[in-house]
Amino acid sequence: MKFTKLPHPSPTPDDVRAAAIADPGFGKVFTDHMVTIDYDEAKGGWQTPVIGPRQAIPLDPAASVLHYAQEIFEGMKAFPHADGGLALFRPEANARRFNASARRMAMPEIPEDLFLAAVREAVNADADWMPQVEGGSLYIRPFMFASEAFLGVRPAKQYKFVVILVSSGNYFKNGVNPVKIWVSQDYVRAAPGGTGAAKTGGNYAASLVPQAEAITHGCDQVVFLDAVEHKWVEELGGMNLFFIRADGSVITPQLTGTILPGITRDSLIAMLREEGLDVREEPYSISQWREEAENGTLLETLACGTAAVVTPVGTVASPAGEFTIGTGGIGQMATKMRERLVDLQHGRLEDKHGWVMRV
Ligand SMILES: *Cc1c(COP(=O)(O)O)cnc(C)c1O
Repeated sequence: MKFTKLPHPSPTPDDVRAAAIADPGFGKVFTDHMVTIDYDEAKGGWQTPVIGPRQAIPLDPAASVLHYAQEIFEGMKAFPHADGGLALFRPEANARRFNASARRMAMPEIPEDLFLAAVREAVNADADWMPQVEGGSLYIRPFMFASEAFLGVRPAKQYKFVVILVSSGNYFKNGVNPVKIWVSQDYVRAAPGGTGAAKTGGNYAASLVPQAEAITHGCDQVVFLDAVEHKWVEELGGMNLFFIRADGSVITPQLTGTILPGITRDSLIAMLREEGLDVREEPYSISQWREEAENGTLLETLACGTAAVVTPVGTVASPAGEFTIGTGGIGQMATKMRERLVDLQHGRLEDKHGWVMRV
């Protein structure tokens, strides 16, 4: 895979970069480079990949993405290892999921090895943007959108695949805090037959009003119930859920097409099973959640995803009132699973599953 390399006319000076990554927070300290790969049906599909300076992308005002939202993305991280190298965590799973999203949004699939090469190329170009802070990472955002100028409604014939990077600090800067979540009454995230299992921007656009409602009610995040019966717990706006019970069983909602198949979710299923827990993918209702929290059957609820890894849910609020999970603090399993996952990602634990890929 030969990448065209465009030289950067004015790379960020070392001292400016050092200051920017000293306390990067999340989502705002962008690196110097980006990968772009054009897709053009008339030219036979994927064109020569390019690594070059990060810059604005010229876009025709009629580009389909601006009108009909043909857009998908991924979220992954590169982690520093003690020997100075960098590693990705299950990146082939991101490549596979990206193509599953592409199929749902009537977009072209990208060969998995091209996706992975693009991610590696971007990370190698900006490895010196890795924050030196504990828990720091390079957050990787591959995405694709319809760039064809055409206002008719049909799948576009031209797309852009892009990889950008964000220097990211420790998500748990002030320690892990249990989150308080709001049960959305009036809104759903995904309906059967919809796009809930695709990582597409529109799902996030639709979650912003309910998320704002959660904040209004003093909560951190919103939890969505299913669209049909409004009874079954599905997921947060961007994190999957696990219910850890006192009898050694664990429930996580099954993937029915309305839930995003999280890679952290998949990893946790394997890790919890290794703990000897009986992990079941099955429906879990909002009334069951309250009941089991109140009678002590439920020990913990974990929310998980690439950005926040594993976060305990402390309190659940709705117009019907609040209930607390366990003591409302950080449970044993939340701590154990978070530490294990983070240690694996940083190469501090034996990688039995072959999940860690050195860049
Ligand atoms: C990305 C995402 C997740 C988490 O997926 P990971 O692969 O674990 O990062 C969960 N829910 C939604 C809606 C998402 O978009």
